[in-house]
Amino acid sequence: GPGDKRTLLAACAWAAERFHRCLLHDGQAEGARQYVADRRIDEASVKKFQIGFSPPSWEWILTQAKHTSFSPAVLERIGLAAPRQQGDGFYDRFRGRVMFPIRDVQGRPIAFGGRVLPELADDKSAKYINSPETPLFSKSNQLYALDWARPTVSQLNQLVVMEGYTDVIAAHQHGVENAVAVLGTALTEKHLPLIRRFTDHIVLVLDGDDAGRKRASEVLELFVGNPVDLRILTLPDGLDPCDFIQTHGRDKFRSLIDSAPDALEHKLSSVTKGLVSADQTHEASLAVEQVLATLAKTRSAGGLPDSSQMLREQHVVGRLAREMRLPPESLRSRLMELRRGAA
Ligand code: ATP
Ligand code: MN
Ligand code: MN
Ligand code: MN
Repeated sequence: GPGDKRTLLAACAWAAERFHRCLLHDGQAEGARQYVADRRIDEASVKKFQIGFSPPSWEWILTQAKHTSFSPAVLERIGLAAPRQQGDGFYDRFRGRVMFPIRDVQGRPIAFGGRVLPELADDKSAKYINSPETPLFSKSNQLYALDWARPTVSQLNQLVVMEGYTDVIAAHQHGVENAVAVLGTALTEKHLPLIRRFTDHIVLVLDGDDAGRKRASEVLELFVGNPVDLRILTLPDGLDPCDFIQTHGRDKFRSLIDSAPDALEHKLSSVTKGLVSADQTHEASLAVEQVLATLAKTRSAGGLPDSSQMLREQHVVGRLAREMRLPPESLRSRLMELRRGAA
């Protein structure tokens, strides 16, 4: 029937291919082709990721669908069309955008991300829009490009999670093929069941901007008590992975990834940065308390610690003591206190 999952999947596959062919061949896509080339996305990547273009019209995909069995109602159910506010009928949700099909782990298109073409943007247009939640798509537990990344993720036993589509495309194009992106959300526990089918080792690479730094400080709590090895890399100089790889190359990027600190270490450096609590400032003792509270939770939630957890804990307490010039014994007893409180 028109609403069943098979039909919706077929409609998504058809639309992805239609947008893709538009980008490759349509006269209206000249600006989009230029934009993609300017972003240094090569032809092989355009094909691999089936990148497309939705022309700046209110009814482009709706009109294309007239030659098919996909009704406007079906396009609405996959998030490509929306009902008009006034009168009958539907309009295209993605207009004048470079289209990134979002595929499930088996490689089937289930949704879209669209980046506005700069020359077609006005002040009201969001830079990116994603498909809404649909029967096929839920943004909080899907990852962009996992279908391509999965063999390399298994082989390296490591998943690199980035913020954006173009980051992942640049990464793969430069040979970092274990990269995926979240879909306009933070990385949360909801992603873990999918990730843990392939690996327990995650490196979260965040943009070197304010949004990226904010995410770094939020993400840790969500992983406390989950049996994953989470490392966090915040890129320097306001760069994101796409910029970084294109500027500094793959090897530099890989070496940053391979030296990315454990999430707890990352938190430790970010909260203690510039503080020495021998000065006994309020800010400094707050920072110490934050790190210890996180450390306390890592164990209470996970039950008995394993030896690598113990080592990590000793290491963090040691480093905290050194950096804040506090006696390690006082940190350890405060940690035990917090743990009793949490139990
Ligand atoms: P580009 O390099 O094309 O400018 P980006 O991927 O670096 O894009 P960021 O601003 O760093 O974009 O945002 C990271 C991700 O967050 C995007 O890839 C997109 O998925 C999502 N995002 C960004 N801006 C918006 C927005 N206005 N609405 C919804 N999602 C957004
Ligand atoms: Mn950013
Ligand atoms: Mn970018
Ligand atoms: Mn970015």
